[in-house]
Amino acid sequence: MNIGYRLRVFFSIENLKWKIRSAMPQNFTCNATVITFHRIDNKNIFAPSIESKDFESLIEEWRRNYKIISIDELNENNSNKSLIITFDDIDTKTLERIDFYTKKYDIPVLIFVATSRLEKKLEWMWIDAIDSIINSNDENKISAMKGIFSIPDLSVISIRKVAVRMIKNTDINLIKKLIDLSGDSLEKYPKLLGDKEIQLCKNNRNIVIGAHTGAHFSLRRLSSSAIKNEIQESIRVLQKCQIDVKYFAYPYGGRLDYDGRSFGELKKAGIQMAFTTEESNQFLSIRKYSIPRFSYLKK
Ligand SMILES: [Zn+2]
Repeated sequence: MNIGYRLRVFFSIENLKWKIRSAMPQNFTCNATVITFHRIDNKNIFAPSIESKDFESLIEEWRRNYKIISIDELNENNSNKSLIITFDDIDTKTLERIDFYTKKYDIPVLIFVATSRLEKKLEWMWIDAIDSIINSNDENKISAMKGIFSIPDLSVISIRKVAVRMIKNTDINLIKKLIDLSGDSLEKYPKLLGDKEIQLCKNNRNIVIGAHTGAHFSLRRLSSSAIKNEIQESIRVLQKCQIDVKYFAYPYGGRLDYDGRSFGELKKAGIQMAFTTEESNQFLSIRKYSIPRFSYLKK
């Protein structure tokens, strides 16, 4: 049976250009338009990846039409033609590409890092294994994955949603099983950022690092004490790497992934702005803990 569902049908570079173009003219009350990318990956396995050539063409076009500013410049800059570029959940290869492009075009980038690998808990981008199993359209693999997660019989889209949110980032045996099932080898598997990569960011004046929790759970599903722990621990880990942590992005970032309990914890932890993945043009200064971002992934 062909399940007929491939995650990659959702990409569209033209769609993002259109969203940004249409956001700009009416965007008079907004300090800047914020964009989020995930990975720069020419194999396009992971759903929201953008290919290098597409990323480069976007940057070239945006540099001609808008001002790409750093997050630290935001408060001084009132231009409604300003763009801020962010990345969430990148792997080590994407970081190398970001390092290259930020130098080549002299553009600032804000990257949000979940700190699992820095905490020595987990080093692989496990989410790729789920996507690769689903993209394989292989019924045996998919039903084996359902077995790993004890997921009942659902549509493939629902399986992905359930699996992504169920997995414990620290359950290494489960993740190894999943990667094995996807047919990839652990040695070549994409990795989360570690100490070496954090050092690379610190040596690049165009890269600012923000926090993205430790284990990348949807915060709204957690108890208040777990929210506090996810936020504080991740900030503490980055601070240990001598990073001044002022910015935060909610994992998944949708309306059902965070709530007011996080705002207080973020404020207490010294965070000045927090970002969602909701797409809208709100006045940034009154929504400092729920700043919307336009996404490369078409929803
Ligand atoms: Zn994320």
